[in-house]
Amino acid sequence: MPQNNPLSKHSILAQNLLVSLRKKQLRWLFIVLFLPIFGVVAAFSQAPSNFANHFKPKTIVQEITLPPAISHISASDEFWQVDQIRRDDTLGSLFKRMGINDDGAIKFLMLAPDARAINRRLIPGRTLETKTNLAGKLLHLEYELDSENVLVASLTPEGYQVATEKMALQNTPVLKSATIRDSLFGATDNAGIPDQIALQIAEIFSSEINFHDDLRSGDRFNVIYEAFYNAGELMKTGNVLAVEFVNNGKTYQAIHFGDAKSKFAYYTPEGKSLHKSFLRTPVEFTRVSSNFNPGRFHPILHRFKAHKGVDLAAPTGTRIKAAGDATVEFVGRKGGYGNVIVLKHKNNVSTVYGHLSGFAKGLRKNMKVAQGDIIGYVGMTGLATGPHLHYEFLLNKVHRNPLTVALPTSVPIDARYKEEFAAKSSNYMAQIQMLNRSYMAARD
Ligand SMILES: [Zn+2]
Repeated sequence: MPQNNPLSKHSILAQNLLVSLRKKQLRWLFIVLFLPIFGVVAAFSQAPSNFANHFKPKTIVQEITLPPAISHISASDEFWQVDQIRRDDTLGSLFKRMGINDDGAIKFLMLAPDARAINRRLIPGRTLETKTNLAGKLLHLEYELDSENVLVASLTPEGYQVATEKMALQNTPVLKSATIRDSLFGATDNAGIPDQIALQIAEIFSSEINFHDDLRSGDRFNVIYEAFYNAGELMKTGNVLAVEFVNNGKTYQAIHFGDAKSKFAYYTPEGKSLHKSFLRTPVEFTRVSSNFNPGRFHPILHRFKAHKGVDLAAPTGTRIKAAGDATVEFVGRKGGYGNVIVLKHKNNVSTVYGHLSGFAKGLRKNMKVAQGDIIGYVGMTGLATGPHLHYEFLLNKVHRNPLTVALPTSVPIDARYKEEFAAKSSNYMAQIQMLNRSYMAARD
């Protein structure tokens, strides 16, 4: 097809629009819906010129009838296009698909120091917007470098001007509910809740609920979380702001309070901190494979031997966290424990982590660690039949059951912030109650 024929160029562009429509139907739908049938190509030049103008309606339209011929386009017309990077795309293949015929632009984008980022980050699914003229020359380009930055290149009489611009993000909290059938992730997937939010929920209630062992079919939760949008498109999620989890008939609630940097920022609606000075289980998503038991038959030693801790089964390499703020008392190998870490905490508490496959880089005796710091990795060194963490909790040198020992809570909300917290809390709880009412209504 001759590239200098404006009519065939139009049809290439129109075809490309249809291709992008099928993939990006949503963004463009509103333009198409309000177009007279002969205005399809003209719409290119009216389309929004940057990410901030986009709009994402919900309906999906698959078929569009094209006019048989388009003959009234002037030579000065400019065309906006949107496409998404596909697997194995190069700038060349991408431009070809978009009907851009501009080797100079490709060369520039591959070589110019401030524009090269686009070529290094052709990540499938990312969006590229371009403006071209009739001859297929690239006039303007916008590329989503990451969830926060857009690379913008514009052709000027002096050549391309390149800038990286911050995307304007709008923080709009999202309210969701989900019911557990088999797992937390199964439920969050079904409800369209990102994994990052599911992990936060598990973390928030980690002292109350073991998300591997304690979940019941029919458990449910309501969550409000931060979501950052650019022109209607979700770019990233932030903190869980409030969450209510009904586990086995018991209701747990948490409200976020604190600045973005606060590590432990969850409270009950009444303002009691949910943060405990010790993690109940210092590995993520674990299953208790052997309980604390003073008279257990040892599977390897074949004799009765007290099990002075709990065994937390998890795949080899799973990260192990310090259960609380501590000083490292021992790190190394020790008999049946294999690779083991002993941490010394305040108030005569010690914790022991056995059978590790490895230690965190640089972990040394007498080093200070904070709660949640990664100290090592699950393994099966020493006397172990499979990969698990053997975890002990000692108070005044006496072994206690780590799963049931009473854990002291940490600082409550400062008196200065009590009113602010109360207002926030009742606002979030009202929204959670609203989610509960619609759940009940849907069930009736
Ligand atoms: Zn054990």
